[in-house]
Amino acid sequence: MPASLKSLPSRTADSGTDSPLRRRVRRVSDCVFCRIVAGAAPAHRVYEDDTVTAFLDIRPITRGHTLVIPKRHATDLSELDAETGVDLFRVGHRIARAVQGPGFAADGANLLVNDGKAAFQTVAHVHLHVIPRSHGDKFRFATGLVLRRSREPERVAAALRADLAALDPRTGSADDTA
Ligand code: AMP
Ligand code: ZN
Repeated sequence: MPASLKSLPSRTADSGTDSPLRRRVRRVSDCVFCRIVAGAAPAHRVYEDDTVTAFLDIRPITRGHTLVIPKRHATDLSELDAETGVDLFRVGHRIARAVQGPGFAADGANLLVNDGKAAFQTVAHVHLHVIPRSHGDKFRFATGLVLRRSREPERVAAALRADLAALDPRTGSADDTA
């Protein structure tokens, strides 16, 4: 248990339950995506700003499969404020545009949130999947769904960062002048 957690009072004086602060610290220290945000767990990061970070899925369905997450822990959409939801989608939108660049040449993307266990959410920290798609990739997609194999993630992340950098910063469109 982290020292910061040990030093917190285990029970609130009046309610006899865990304090909200202690619960939050435990949730965050138990959360693999919070550890990635803190730099305490490895990830192939492709984007970061004040509220959002994005990194490659460790078990990609297609090449470039990326997760966009809020930096502040939110277990599911019920805990996510709407503004951060907008930020998540803005970044997901940029990544979906970026994978149409030369590093991936995707024709489209699936953007998906599995919200809650009932919807097969397996990591309890909100994340937006961006899954690059190509015309005629039905078989490759189905195989990827089963195998979920990561190949050369350093190169994939570098290609995605390059395609993101080539987008027009204002419109999010492929920047033809670059
Ligand atoms: P979901 O079913 O929507 O909760 O998806 C969780 C996703 O997180 C899966 O696609 C996992 O492959 C991915 N994942 C789990 N742990 C990690 C990790 N440490 N780094 C990157 N992706 C992860
Ligand atoms: Zn978390």
